[in-house]
Amino acid sequence: MSSTRININRLRERINQACELACRQPESVKLLAVSKTKPIMMVEQAIVAGQLDFGENYLQDALTKIHAFPDANWHFIGAIQSNKTRDIAAHFDWVHTVSSFKIARRLDAQRPSEARPLKVLLQVNINNEEGKAGVVEEDLLELVHSLIPLKRILLRGLMAIPQKSENHDVQRTNFAHLARLQKLVQSNCALPQFDELSMGMSADLEAAIAEGATWVRIGTDIFGEREPL
Ligand SMILES: *Cc1c(COP(=O)(O)O)cnc(C)c1O
Repeated sequence: MSSTRININRLRERINQACELACRQPESVKLLAVSKTKPIMMVEQAIVAGQLDFGENYLQDALTKIHAFPDANWHFIGAIQSNKTRDIAAHFDWVHTVSSFKIARRLDAQRPSEARPLKVLLQVNINNEEGKAGVVEEDLLELVHSLIPLKRILLRGLMAIPQKSENHDVQRTNFAHLARLQKLVQSNCALPQFDELSMGMSADLEAAIAEGATWVRIGTDIFGEREPL
């Protein structure tokens, strides 16, 4: 059995335990395997292990893998420059890192007409960190309202990468904050499918699941340490 498969099985077990503790159905939390910088062979091992969803940060690196496995579900989770939106709109199923009208409008305009609307999560800068990606809380509702007319993207929820903390209570506080913002959007905007929360990585997935994560994003614990690209 490949180590990729062993790691995926171990993570599913961890997710199931966290769900049990949180009185949640295990199917309510999906595993996003972050395969950035990793070779096609490892993606294949993950697919053999039953993994369906993959996260990528670097466009060129991702396109090779998408080409090799077009039936997997591909999620863009990296920083988005304007000159990348056309390929992202054409080749991905989900984007977790939208935080401006400008980028969203380009993705909307460039989504091919034969494809289903692109599923979009808005990244929130949950701790108001200087220089960090994401929309700040004060601007979130205005951003959501501005995106509602865009019909080629489908707003599905929120994503955050909180400030690092080893403390479980601090982790939970940050994730609870994102969950509260999701409810705020739900109660202010008629978005029936705004039901996803992309939060939690290897070190804090238990806290994220306790606070309602629907996607946990895991790279290193599945595929091993990364070399710088
Ligand atoms: C790289 C990355 C991950 C995975 O990180 P690991 O530490 O390898 O598990 C998750 N989310 C985002 C946004 C990332 O860029």
